[in-house]
Amino acid sequence: MKKKVLILFLIIFFLFLGRNLPKRFFDKEEIGQINDINTEVVQSEEKIISLDRIEKIEISENSTYGALMATSGVEYALAMEIYDDAKNVYDLVKIRVGRHLELVYDRDTDELKELRYKIDTEDELHVRNVKYLAQEDSAASSTEKALDKKWQAKIEPIPYEIRQKTVEGTVESSMYQAALDNNIDIRAIIELADAFQWTIDFSQDPRVGDTFKFVYEERYLDGEYVMPGKIFAGRYTNDGTEYYVYYFEESESNKGFFDKDGNSVQKMFLKAPVAFKYISSPFTTGQRYIEAFNVSTGHRAVDYAAAIGTPIRAVGDGTVTFAGWSSAGYGNLTSIRHNATYSTNYAHQSKFAVKKGQKVKQGQIIGYVGSTGFSTGPHLHYEMVKNGAKVNPLREVLPPGEPIKTENRGRFEEVIGKWVGELK
Ligand SMILES: [Zn+2]
Repeated sequence: MKKKVLILFLIIFFLFLGRNLPKRFFDKEEIGQINDINTEVVQSEEKIISLDRIEKIEISENSTYGALMATSGVEYALAMEIYDDAKNVYDLVKIRVGRHLELVYDRDTDELKELRYKIDTEDELHVRNVKYLAQEDSAASSTEKALDKKWQAKIEPIPYEIRQKTVEGTVESSMYQAALDNNIDIRAIIELADAFQWTIDFSQDPRVGDTFKFVYEERYLDGEYVMPGKIFAGRYTNDGTEYYVYYFEESESNKGFFDKDGNSVQKMFLKAPVAFKYISSPFTTGQRYIEAFNVSTGHRAVDYAAAIGTPIRAVGDGTVTFAGWSSAGYGNLTSIRHNATYSTNYAHQSKFAVKKGQKVKQGQIIGYVGSTGFSTGPHLHYEMVKNGAKVNPLREVLPPGEPIKTENRGRFEEVIGKWVGELK
């Protein structure tokens, strides 16, 4: 009797083991499959096998592509061949300090078969030895063959593994502090502020007790957290009023943030001419003095205290009608005409980034904070002019942006449906 129990136990035990063993292999395959969303099959196969020898070279100060290749034992002629064949796609002279060159050596021949370089947070350069390309890629590489190239250069999206994360917090002193208190990646908070940049001025609007909650992408590479990606949905409750943003791609040309009714939250003007990431820098010390719009004191503008050199952005699309010295006390002044009704002025700048007559896009850097003209300290004096009269930019009620088209409403409701409950 006891023997039977023991045998049964052993059978169950081995069944368990048997179920667990292959899963370890599947885990790897799963990572490969997730990667497939953004990349070609070739890449995920490499990941599964992953027996190729990969050498990661950090790009140090004053090092060059040629010197780095030489130090890692790549012959000069070969390094030059790779450089020349890649040049039309990416000039390897432009590699940046702190990033890496990755050299992939074939597991069987130990021959150099690929050079990889992450150009920025989104894209990666691949220079592949044509000899090692899979069959289907060989056909695609006929261009290289025709040009007698031995290397095929391509820029491809970095194959991040995407995980979804929901976080929340309460503002006790600032959004930065709330992020720190709740262990939220500060870069994710900056993304959140960007999603609300048409709705909330994070230098002036937040009140103690404001709450926020948002769902966003976390990007992983080889199982390690790298950075936050896009925001899927967010709520910011400001002084008791709830504001929502939902990310939706209606079409290639219309994607971004919408409210629950399907109106684009991306309005004609940004709430503030200085981005949240600059005004709320945790490195600024001392009290930030902001003078508000006040008709009775005659200050028909909003002042943003910020360090000299802080970038100033155009609040909306327009044309630069003035960029120069103003003798009226504005110091270095830029004026932008947005349409027949609105224009905006940016005063006391230390440096200009645009010229008179130039067209500018919303969010484009037009100059830098300074203290020129009648100014007692570094700040941006920002004015909005409507039909010739100065108005409070924070009080301007602008029409909602383009709504989602009727034929896409079903798809929109479906996408945001899963976030609505999540943000409660
Ligand atoms: Zn002012």
